[in-house]
Amino acid sequence: MPTRIPVQTPANREFALTPQQRVNRISRSIRMADRHLRRHHTILNHQNFLGFAIWLGSIAGMIGMTALYFYNLVPAWSVILVNAVFASLLHELEHDLIHSLYFKETWVEKMMMWGVWIFRLNTPSPFYRKKIHLLHHKDSGQVSDIEEQMIGNGMKWGLKRIITMLDQGLAFLINAHRVKKTAPKLKLGEMAKAAFPFTYMYQATSLLFINGNLYLLIMPLVNPAFSAPAWFVQVMSVVNFLAVVIGLPNFIRQGALQIVSSSMHYFGDVNPDASVGLLEQCQVMTMRSWYMLPFQLFCFNFGSTHGIHHFIVNQPFYLRQLGAAYSHAAMKKYGVRFDDHGSFGRANRYHLQSQATLQATGVLKGQGA
Ligand SMILES: [Zn+2]
Ligand SMILES: [Zn+2]
Repeated sequence: MPTRIPVQTPANREFALTPQQRVNRISRSIRMADRHLRRHHTILNHQNFLGFAIWLGSIAGMIGMTALYFYNLVPAWSVILVNAVFASLLHELEHDLIHSLYFKETWVEKMMMWGVWIFRLNTPSPFYRKKIHLLHHKDSGQVSDIEEQMIGNGMKWGLKRIITMLDQGLAFLINAHRVKKTAPKLKLGEMAKAAFPFTYMYQATSLLFINGNLYLLIMPLVNPAFSAPAWFVQVMSVVNFLAVVIGLPNFIRQGALQIVSSSMHYFGDVNPDASVGLLEQCQVMTMRSWYMLPFQLFCFNFGSTHGIHHFIVNQPFYLRQLGAAYSHAAMKKYGVRFDDHGSFGRANRYHLQSQATLQATGVLKGQGA
């Protein structure tokens, strides 16, 4: 499918506007959709209530699926998929909490922050993420942006990038020192501390899950008389249970989100003036980007709606989705790019150069796959 990129022509009046005017018109349209929805569905004005209800419902949903699995009432695959979706809602809530959208500066806000961390595990503390996420809004697409570079944005396509997108622990080992050189706000010690304790618990259990199961699978092949110690079998049954109810759901959720996020943000040649750079920071991935749909399922359609968020940050995630069609129409009209399938091949560069050109000119130097 060809990449659909708006081209400036004399007949295209929208491009006669300055970038600032285009940004203003998009922002105004998003706000208008927001107001319209709030006016017609008054429940949307109870923002604290809705946020808390989604938080409680998602946590209760994950615990409920865990109980059903414990009593052998549902198969493992259904628990993994359903809990991945619940965890993706918690991730959206975390992002909203980072933007202070529910119970601002109260103990309820803090409790919700802890809740979204405990039930996702494989992320840094939301209190730390707030810092690097707000920097992402300020410096999106620049070499000083920490958050997006740490999940692979700007890297050339290859094995290293795939690993970086799939696992934050390995991404830290691969990327931290490189990103630190260009992002002065990145303090490695602070980032490592922000992963304590839940991310380390997740990583230790994941290692045991992979290696323990490999051991139980391989040993009988090597030695037919092999019999694993009873205590080890018991430990592994607990580890496997945890993997089904929380580990694998979050691995899928995070992988899906990071694949989508690191392909819809542009990087490296985005206009550094954030007030107009907004037009170049993100693309919109619609159903036409069909290959992203399985991933979009586990990140609440992030590829389609996160671009809206860059224009207006104080909008809850469900409202952004509800008004997406209207917001997208304005974004398309004023020149935001849609379904740019080539961005992976360009290592997220906004301007249309091939990866080979970027490598030849030294832009991607030192990013071997
Ligand atoms: Zn973003
Ligand atoms: Zn944000």
